[in-house]
Amino acid sequence: MVRDLARHPEICSINTATLGFQAPIDEVIEAVARAGFGMISPWRRDTKDLDVSAVARQIRDAGLKLSGYCRSPYIPAATVAQYRANIAANKQAIDDAAVLGAPVFVMVVGSLPEGSKDIEDARRQVREACGELMEHGRKAGVKIGLEPLHPVYAADRSCLTLLSEALDWCEMIEGKTDEPQVGTIIDCYHVWWDPNIRRDIARAGREKRIFGFHVCDWLVPTTDVLNDRGMMGDGIIDIRGLRTALEEAGHTGAVEVEIFSAQNWWRRPMAETLQACRERFSTAT
Ligand code: ZN
Repeated sequence: MVRDLARHPEICSINTATLGFQAPIDEVIEAVARAGFGMISPWRRDTKDLDVSAVARQIRDAGLKLSGYCRSPYIPAATVAQYRANIAANKQAIDDAAVLGAPVFVMVVGSLPEGSKDIEDARRQVREACGELMEHGRKAGVKIGLEPLHPVYAADRSCLTLLSEALDWCEMIEGKTDEPQVGTIIDCYHVWWDPNIRRDIARAGREKRIFGFHVCDWLVPTTDVLNDRGMMGDGIIDIRGLRTALEEAGHTGAVEVEIFSAQNWWRRPMAETLQACRERFSTAT
């Protein structure tokens, strides 16, 4: 049986992108805590130019835990120098995740560097980099979460598009293990259409590689595949069905709402969006 989210706000997480980055992170933290949620997932842009340890303290003092830290600078590059710079930027972000107390660093891996048509090379670069980032994360106490994106983004945002592929990569990077350091972030918006998604969620559970679960909805019609994502219940994703599959596969962690909505939710006051999230967590998630 799925967990009753209305009775478990402590596992309901607000990804700060949902609120449209309209306020500084200290105000966002207060708003999320005031709305009764137990978790938050900040972005690097929230902490840019700030003392990360001070932000960590604000989050702790508000009584919130982190479900993750978003997200990686893209990996694939046209030159070795740029590739090394991308890895260095990711290591810095992993260090920040550790200071914040995030259990997992969310990786949106990137895809073709400018001028390239070699997506297999991009994939190879990502896997190679992840091996190095995995070791960096292990020392820092932060796991690596690979988030496959919907294939509409395959050219630019993510050469990784399937959950099965993400699980294959985890094994190529780390091998089989009972205590994985590399796992997957399963986002409804990106995987709902996959005919094998239930099979692969079960596999992710068996392999202990479910490191995060993101929810929002796919609107029909959708006007912008990046920034026209819907509130849970407003679209066509069987979110409850996917959550049931995850929990049957052993997921006991957070359910994180992440909505990019430039024309709608980002224009509303944070308290209103948070209230809607609260309701839809219980009625449509
Ligand atoms: Zn996501």
